Amino acid sequence: MTEGPKAHRHKVKEFLITLRLSRFVPLCLCAFAPFLGGCVPLDEAALPKTTVSQALEAPYAGLDPGYKTSESLHFIVKAYSSETAARYSALCEEDYQRIMRDLGIYSFVPSKPYNIVIYKDAPEYHLKTLQPDWSGGVTYGNAILIYESDGSAGILAHEMTHLVFNEFMGISVPGEVRWLNEGLAVYEQTRADYRSKAFYDEKISSDISLNPIPFSQLINLVPQGQKDAVVERWYAAAGSVAAFMLRQGGSLSFSYFLGRVKDGRSLDEAVGASFGGLWKDMKDVERTWLLEIKR
Ligand SMILES: [Zn+2]
Repeated sequence: MTEGPKAHRHKVKEFLITLRLSRFVPLCLCAFAPFLGGCVPLDEAALPKTTVSQALEAPYAGLDPGYKTSESLHFIVKAYSSETAARYSALCEEDYQRIMRDLGIYSFVPSKPYNIVIYKDAPEYHLKTLQPDWSGGVTYGNAILIYESDGSAGILAHEMTHLVFNEFMGISVPGEVRWLNEGLAVYEQTRADYRSKAFYDEKISSDISLNPIPFSQLINLVPQGQKDAVVERWYAAAGSVAAFMLRQGGSLSFSYFLGRVKDGRSLDEAVGASFGGLWKDMKDVERTWLLEIKR
């Protein structure tokens, strides 16, 4: 007897509920507006969870039989055609090299290849990952689940930044760097997708520059819930600050900064010690960032 989609969904849901009872690794969910991937955290209680030891077990249904696999240095890409798998494989390596270069973390080596699953389309993605309608991609453990769309190149770069950031920072990524994680992801998204760049540039010039989000809020008040105007503003500001620090400070200094945050130093301490006197603390970063966006 074959299993209907309803029974299948039920089974996956049951699995999710079981996992929720265990210890957690974070899951990042990307919202999808025509071509954009903003990454919107769901309410903690609504997030599918997994244990650290089960991080590679997937609470989602994979591709149907007959899919193709393309293996590269850092990725195992699964898709329905060899052409698609090869195309995404090349895209992944390109993104990966750019992220390493931008963040200056050349010495970082992932412990194992990242898994990339490319679903055929939005209906298959939503059916098999149980993500809400507005989700365009999701990071789970060391995997990215995505479907082919106009915005998938940007979403892929966004999610990959999270995979690299999370693994580089280790299991205990402090809450106060959530803005940095998302900000870098937005920045890399705009590097990979010109429409995302146009969207965020416009958001900064027509909104954030006129009504900036104070750093105290950017760092401490991480928005929760579905994509809306407030959440978009937060992502745009985080992306702008991350891009500003990378551009002004340079990749090498930025890698020192990340290393110090990873070692448990406060943001103020890490900034003060890493950029050769350019900034004393985050207040200094905020002051100079405001000058730039208001120009
Ligand atoms: Zn994100």
